[in-house]
Amino acid sequence: MSHNKGKLYVISGPSGTGKGTICAELLKDAGNEFSVSMTTRGPREGEVHGKDYYFVSREEFLENVDKGNFLEHATVFDNFYGTPKDMVMKRLDRGRNVILDIDVQGGLQVKAAMPEAILIFLLPPSLTELRQRLEGRKTEAPEIIEKRLSKALEEIKFIGEYDYYIVNDDLEKAVLEVKSIVTAEAARVPEKVRPIIRKYEQEQEKGE
Ligand code: 5GP
Repeated sequence: MSHNKGKLYVISGPSGTGKGTICAELLKDAGNEFSVSMTTRGPREGEVHGKDYYFVSREEFLENVDKGNFLEHATVFDNFYGTPKDMVMKRLDRGRNVILDIDVQGGLQVKAAMPEAILIFLLPPSLTELRQRLEGRKTEAPEIIEKRLSKALEEIKFIGEYDYYIVNDDLEKAVLEVKSIVTAEAARVPEKVRPIIRKYEQEQEKGE
């Protein structure tokens, strides 16, 4: 029944806005599960295959595209990234919420395929602050940082397609806001309310 199904959350926003940290906070709740994406990007120090990403060759990735295994996929900074469809669907069916940390191209594809998905956009307080955060991470070369900053502005232009936006100027506050959205969405009256009405009808029938 639809009200027993989990909800699909898309979290997008320029890299360096704290998506990873916010997702990690959400995942402390056992009802939320992370969708591990497949990518052709090489692992960064400390990243674990099967936990952060499935790191695959371009060949393997394209095979999965051909087989229709992705809910969405996109090219981000010259690498391929995709969300394995099966895992997402199985978890939703089991009543778990699924969290996708994906870019805007992917977010829009998910919205087209599953309009009931909830799209949250995370914004940096300013582009200057975003630059400082990216430089502070020391994981990317300067030219990559420039690429990420120009992509940031391109992504922000799509904010109107999202359901919610959060400015991450204070991590604790941003986490609280995302959790509030998840709490509110859990209490949303579903599109298909029939099963809820039926439950009360059955109760009354039994009582008669
Ligand atoms: P990174 O290489 O820094 O881990 O991720 C780069 C960008 O790719 C981030 O904006 C991240 O949200 C996005 N991304 C990660 N996995 C996926 C995916 O499966 N699909 C799409 N469309 N974007 C993804």
